[in-house]
Amino acid sequence: MSETIFDKIIAKEIPADIVFEDDHVLAFRDINPQAPVHVLVIPKKKMVSMADAKDRSALELGEYMQRISKVAAELNLDAEGYRVVFNHGQNGGQTVDYIHAHILGGRNLTWPPG
Ligand code: C5P
Repeated sequence: MSETIFDKIIAKEIPADIVFEDDHVLAFRDINPQAPVHVLVIPKKKMVSMADAKDRSALELGEYMQRISKVAAELNLDAEGYRVVFNHGQNGGQTVDYIHAHILGGRNLTWPPG
């Protein structure tokens, strides 16, 4: 696995606007926000993309999912709603090879996505 910018953010080698951190995840604001609230949640135990998730334990993935939900709640998005997006690979539009959940909120998001 080659090192990505998100490896460097986790290692605190480059700065990020961190909104939540614990033993399992780091959550930080996207530098190019696509909505009034746009936060990325990444697990500290690296996966490259959703394609890796099938080989991980239900506990590990559950910890990740629970933190995504917790971060969204702490961003006060539960009442008005939000979207969680994982991009994978070329067709999915993934640009950083370190899995990241996009939490998007603060506006009415259209469907389908582009
Ligand atoms: O899903 P995708 O790989 O396209 O998303 C990567 C995201 O990481 C982009 O939304 C980009 O703005 C964000 N990013 C960031 N901080 C960086 C580099 C990229 O928030 N230093």
